[in-house]
Amino acid sequence: MNYDVAIIGCGVTGAAVAYELSKYNLKTVVLEAENDVACGTTKANSGIMHAGYDPKPGTLMARLNRIGNKEAHEICKKLDVKVSWCGSFVCAFDENDDKTVRALYERGLENQIPDLEILNSNAVHSLEKNLSENVTSALYAKTAGVVSPWELALAFAEVAVLNQVELKRNFRVNKITKIDKAECNPQYESAYCITSEKGESVNASFVINAAGVYADDIHSLISKPRYEIKPSRGQYYLLDHEARDLVSHVIFQCPSNGTKGILVSPTCHGNIIVGPDAVATEKDDLAVTREGLQQVAELAKKSVPSINLGLSIRNFSGVRANSTVDDFIIEEVPEAKGFIDFAGIKSPGLSAACAMGAEALSLLEKAGLHIESKKTFIDERHHIRFAELTPSEKAELTKSNPSYGRVICRCETITEGEIIAAFNSPIKPVSVDGIKRRTNAGMGRCQGGFCSPRVIDLLIKSGIPPQEITQDKTGSKILLGSMEEL
Ligand SMILES: Cc1cc2nc3c(=O)[nH]c(=O)nc-3n(C[C@H](O)[C@H](O)[C@H](O)COP(=O)(O)OP(=O)(O)OC[C@H]3O[C@@H](n4cnc5c(N)ncnc54)[C@H](O)[C@@H]3O)c2cc1C
Repeated sequence: MNYDVAIIGCGVTGAAVAYELSKYNLKTVVLEAENDVACGTTKANSGIMHAGYDPKPGTLMARLNRIGNKEAHEICKKLDVKVSWCGSFVCAFDENDDKTVRALYERGLENQIPDLEILNSNAVHSLEKNLSENVTSALYAKTAGVVSPWELALAFAEVAVLNQVELKRNFRVNKITKIDKAECNPQYESAYCITSEKGESVNASFVINAAGVYADDIHSLISKPRYEIKPSRGQYYLLDHEARDLVSHVIFQCPSNGTKGILVSPTCHGNIIVGPDAVATEKDDLAVTREGLQQVAELAKKSVPSINLGLSIRNFSGVRANSTVDDFIIEEVPEAKGFIDFAGIKSPGLSAACAMGAEALSLLEKAGLHIESKKTFIDERHHIRFAELTPSEKAELTKSNPSYGRVICRCETITEGEIIAAFNSPIKPVSVDGIKRRTNAGMGRCQGGFCSPRVIDLLIKSGIPPQEITQDKTGSKILLGSMEEL
């Protein structure tokens, strides 16, 4: 099959690029190794829309963070993505930290970040009653927020698919060869044949490499290595809704040890998130360790001494795509015309996501892609969140569609109707966690203990054979066979 553009990887970066390209009359395909969107770093991070005071001025990170944060306001609204623009504090605890806070403020001004302010101790404590009394000052960034990272990626990808972008799941790219342009689109100079580990192939004139921590491996399939991904793992506690009033802003400490500083933050789902640390690791190492979590807990208590980590309902970790270059690597590969890397997309990659599409389009056009706007681009997405409706809206909906009257996830009040709507969405979920990412079923205090069997039942009813149902990624099987067979 011949395409104009192939995007490798459907995390938030690849999905954002797919969304942008779906506005044009192009044949675009997204090749994703896993069975769903957002199965990589995009599903395991702090979920902060950083304001943009942190990246070094003049870097791609600084520019794309600033634009991405600004664009996210409108994009999250029209694509119905959960976000809360709650603002963030970077707290100082001594004179050295006060200087760091001042330096971050100056850097923020240089990065053209609006609404930054340095607050003294009284002012900070008047806004956050549970903060340590040792906080001496804080950088207040009013434009920071918290977003659902996997929902942002899903929203981009769903709208792209609605607008005729093809998504091929379970397509793990393991070979790329340059081919003659006559075998693909003769009007373009470049042409590539991209093959999956199962042997399926697609041809494309242009390629976007958005493979997250594997972007250096994808790059090396077509060119000599120019950078290396040096992954760094960060681990977290997620606290129950009972802790929700602990803080109302994102609370950072001063940056240290390769992180933006340990945070205690509300999530857009009404939980509190605590973490992450930073430990050099392997690309697929998502372990959590007792030592790491202990360190996170101690540091978190420095900011919010009354934090009760006994309210933790889940620990998890994510892997940063840190690289040998101290910036995002977004460029056409010199020896491979039309092949564009989006590599080293570490933090603030999520905050920059809403700027990635325009960046890709501009590089693709420079590489020779011709674009023409679609006359019929559908630029919206709507989602029923039953728990957020008024009593009369709930009654009306349940009357017209009784499946909204059947609660599947008791902790989060997620109904069968919402899960069926997910099956009918442009990218059908195929796993228990795929449903969780789309509806929040299983996100609550019991972490799916109650609803998982019901969700599995709905997956079976949607047409997936029982033995093929997975918890999450391909291979994470739940049911092994019938009792008689076993
Ligand atoms: C601990 C931690 C905290 C963070 N906190 C924040 C934050 O608060 N704010 C912020 O802005 N950023 C944050 N980040 C960074 C942010 O999460 C990332 O920048 C962003 O998620 C990167 O998205 P991506 O699409 O580039 O990569 P990914 O989400 O990893 O997506 C890459 C995709 O490529 C696919 N893929 C890989 N290899 C292949 C292959 N061979 N063939 C086909 N597909 C392939 C993968 O399956 C995956 O779906 C954090 C990161 C971490 C780890």
